[in-house]
Amino acid sequence: MTAEAIDRLLTPCLSSHPACAQAPGTVEERVEGQLATPMPALADEEGAALPKGLPEVIDGHVHLFPERLFEAIWDWFHEHGWPIRYQLHAEAVLQFLFERGVSRVVALHYAHKPGIARDMNQWMSSLVARWPRVLGTATVFPGEEGAVEILREAFALGLGGVKLHCHVQCFGPDEPAMHEVYSTCAEHSMPLVIHAGREPKSPAYHCDPHELCAASKIERALTDYPDLRICVPHLGADEFDAYARLLERHDNLWLDTTMMLADYFSLEGAWPLLEVRPDRVLYGTDFPNLPYAWDREVRRLASRGLRDEHLEQVLGGVARDLFGLDPL
Ligand SMILES: [Zn+2]
Repeated sequence: MTAEAIDRLLTPCLSSHPACAQAPGTVEERVEGQLATPMPALADEEGAALPKGLPEVIDGHVHLFPERLFEAIWDWFHEHGWPIRYQLHAEAVLQFLFERGVSRVVALHYAHKPGIARDMNQWMSSLVARWPRVLGTATVFPGEEGAVEILREAFALGLGGVKLHCHVQCFGPDEPAMHEVYSTCAEHSMPLVIHAGREPKSPAYHCDPHELCAASKIERALTDYPDLRICVPHLGADEFDAYARLLERHDNLWLDTTMMLADYFSLEGAWPLLEVRPDRVLYGTDFPNLPYAWDREVRRLASRGLRDEHLEQVLGGVARDLFGLDPL
């Protein structure tokens, strides 16, 4: 990536796109009723490898960004989210997970403003070309000029899905600009991972995720685009019950576990969802952007007493189905 492209990535959101508008009020004024941030780091112990005897473990939710953008994201987390325990750059992230026994990785990134997705997708595709056990996904800023072309180019480069983040990109799943994203993903049979749950929200976002996001808005997309496969991270937090009902009604919905089984947030209701539909829930971590041990979530999963076939599904089988990965 050129120095110019990196500068473009790091410039704050300044365009006239409505999503770039600041939310009214200062961060302090917006903090009322929101997650108290930053949250603490946990000094929990970490394993040197995955627990023994597990079936294939695919991490379906790993973040990879170019170096300076990653550092800017970590700075944001330190100030507004939680301390990042593993400040590892992209290749080091992959090496870390593979050395500890993770079998494959789905790599996600997101564009925080219009005009940078194309560079980011190119960066992702050249990175994953060196790592055959990584599936890279594309990003786009909903509503940006040429969004459909940006996605088509990314798929042609070999990226195998799309990641969007309603909180960071300040859009709701029901906005008209999403139509072209949904239909392009459906047309190319590409799964869409969309952070469309209302949590974890932060007053530092430029928008209020509780206003933008609702399970009912995802239901509309699932209904309007029956060929589109949607994965909502964080088990749809905090609308666990609503997402449990959506899983019953829609065969084109998946959820990932990211951070919800770690007992870090005080949100109740994640486990029952997993126990009801282990065939539609996949393991993911948010590594490396974690305030706790890399294996905290997988150790909890492994010791939960799930039936063998359900554990096999959650840890690997569901990700293989959703992302079309070959069995090893
Ligand atoms: Zn994430």
